[in-house]
Amino acid sequence: MKKNHELKGSCACGNVKYKVEGNPLFTQACHCKNCKLSTGSSFVIHTMIMEEDFKISGDVASIDLPTGSGKGYHAYFCIICGVYIFCRYGISKGRIALRTQTLEKPIKPQAHIFVKDKDPWIEISDKSICHDKMYDREKTWPAESLNRIR
Ligand SMILES: [Zn+2]
Ligand SMILES: [Zn+2]
Repeated sequence: MKKNHELKGSCACGNVKYKVEGNPLFTQACHCKNCKLSTGSSFVIHTMIMEEDFKISGDVASIDLPTGSGKGYHAYFCIICGVYIFCRYGISKGRIALRTQTLEKPIKPQAHIFVKDKDPWIEISDKSICHDKMYDREKTWPAESLNRIR
């Protein structure tokens, strides 16, 4: 497997810095109501990575928040500036979801989910990557990423 150049990111104040030492699995934008509330914005962009690839420095605080699945997620914030860096979902063990825009070089979403809740003034030009709710991962993620989570 060819390895990406290492990905790096940080919070707004510089207390938290991290590296991703492997290829990201998948990047998606979510327009659901939970994500709107937790960002205070119209959607979130998450990049899923393997937890073993994630190296972080600087103190973070965390909190449990609800999800549509009912299993919840654990969100991690810089203790100084409060920027939300990543989260762990109850349903995806061994993986974490990074807030894509905390990366130095953000990644373009490969899917938009919960488009049914999208704010009406946002137009997504590529309709082929839009999903009303959730997609079928087996049909949507690249084979290389699916192999890594098996
Ligand atoms: Zn910070
Ligand atoms: Zn969401």
